Amino acid sequence: MSEYLPKFDFVARLDFGIGKQGEAAAERVRGKHPVEDLLYDRLVDAIIDEQMCPGQHLNEVRLAERHNVPRSRVRRVLERLRDEDMVVFELNRGAFVCRPTVQDAHDIFEIRRSLEDLAVRLACERARPADIVILRKALPQALASLSASETETGRLAVNFHLALVRICGNESLEMMVAQLIRRCVLVQSVYQKASAVLCPSREFAGIIDCIERKDADAASALMALHFDHIAANLDLDEARGTGDAAHALV
Ligand SMILES: [Zn+2]
Repeated sequence: MSEYLPKFDFVARLDFGIGKQGEAAAERVRGKHPVEDLLYDRLVDAIIDEQMCPGQHLNEVRLAERHNVPRSRVRRVLERLRDEDMVVFELNRGAFVCRPTVQDAHDIFEIRRSLEDLAVRLACERARPADIVILRKALPQALASLSASETETGRLAVNFHLALVRICGNESLEMMVAQLIRRCVLVQSVYQKASAVLCPSREFAGIIDCIERKDADAASALMALHFDHIAANLDLDEARGTGDAAHALV
């Protein structure tokens, strides 16, 4: 991990603004650890937006000071991210954003392909007309995003995948896929080829059509193709990962 220098100081880039008002509002919604949940959400967003890069140091003290969050809470958030394989602790060095190995990349994509295949098949069974409307609304944004920044494009793609799995109405599946998507972002951040095309959004439209027709086999085939294209954009060479690899897209 030590060879990976951070591209920039993550803490300096973000101002979470977790104030008393925000805490109170969040507490009503979220329950007993609103500050931890907010910090967690912000860190996860930073991963998806690539403001946090694999190998980047997460300074516990500075996170605590900057966001006026007790250090013990920052620690718990980092431990939660560690439990989700997003963060790793190194002895006497602190917390770092995980840098997935090639084996991790294979493992993560294998599970993700399988779970999203299940998700798209369940979506074909369970989608209501309102769900199709939601998916179609997400689609033009993704397709139009050639003019958007790569960060926006990546986030739109993530949102499309999450909207699709949400149709299943299975919270455990949704949680697992969300976690895998975040880890995929880290994988792609390290191993994406510089010349890679965007998350191939042309497949999204076809997938929605299949869900609407309740054609599970066709939807599954298109999803498999989608993952083939993503995999083709990766260069799974252990030597990669200098810390500022190409942008991640899902
Ligand atoms: Zn995708």
